[in-house]
Amino acid sequence: MQKRVLIVEDEPAIRDMVAFALAKAGLQAVHAADAREAEHAIVDQLPDLILLDWMLPGQSGLELARRLRRQELTREVPIIMLTARGEEGDRVSGLESGVDDYVVKPFSTRELVARIKAVIRRTQPEDEEGVVELGGLRIDGPAHRVFAGETPIHIGPTEYRLLYFFLTHPERVYSRGQLLDHVWGGNVYVEERTVDVHIRRLRKTLEPHGLEVMVQTVRGAGYRFSTALDG
Ligand code: CA
Repeated sequence: MQKRVLIVEDEPAIRDMVAFALAKAGLQAVHAADAREAEHAIVDQLPDLILLDWMLPGQSGLELARRLRRQELTREVPIIMLTARGEEGDRVSGLESGVDDYVVKPFSTRELVARIKAVIRRTQPEDEEGVVELGGLRIDGPAHRVFAGETPIHIGPTEYRLLYFFLTHPERVYSRGQLLDHVWGGNVYVEERTVDVHIRRLRKTLEPHGLEVMVQTVRGAGYRFSTALDG
């Protein structure tokens, strides 16, 4: 299931920029320009996360966050606040009101998307269907199958584990050693270049679907799985 993010922001430029980045990352974006619109959108369909600007016309983002935390329906919905530089001191009151994370303006959309995904992962650690979806790829955990869109992909067992790890830990660089720990279970007899071999195989597996570009080499550091292809 595609995750739905409600953006509550009155500045169209920021709203559109964020919506574009979310769509690119395979997330669904819904807009609201103020607290009233936000509440209508929430009643219409409960989002998986709310991205809430601190400075809104009328009721502030903080007041809205407090109210959302008090309501049964929205108590569990994660909230990331957007704050302007200089408002960091207000974080304490935000955290007390139950906000999950903060992003300070101006922000990179790449960082914002990574934070959104991290919060969604943290708050919904086990997808109810055991399905992980990112950047056009879908792993059906219980069935042990991988799809590019609707097309099943044939994948080796190690590449499967590697891909599963990447999809659940995107937008972060992992060294070969860290990947060995996470994917191979820290088997000391496996050499680091084994990682390179399986990365190559994984790319080859994804290549017919045009998705290999998400498996990125970070020179001198390791590998990263990213849906942001411009960095
Ligand atoms: Ca604003």
